[in-house]
Amino acid sequence: MAQASDRWEDNAEGPYYIDKSCSMCNLCTEIAPDNIREAPEGDHCYISRQPEAGDETTNLQDAIDQCPCEAIGKEE
Ligand code: SF4
Repeated sequence: MAQASDRWEDNAEGPYYIDKSCSMCNLCTEIAPDNIREAPEGDHCYISRQPEAGDETTNLQDAIDQCPCEAIGKEE
């Protein structure tokens, strides 16, 4: 389960985040390309923009559900 206290510093400010257990498989950038990007360092992905439209929220939830490392989370 993702840990907010372990989130990458480059996540966009807001409830969704990616933590440091990300293995850089890149699945989430395919599922939610409008909101998740690969870091320039090439060692993790991060939330580049918090979701706005309903489709973006749906895609991010799919990324949370499918991330093999459970590295994507949402603070309530
Ligand atoms: S799906 Fe999970 S492990 Fe894969 S790149 Fe995204 S956050 Fe990292």
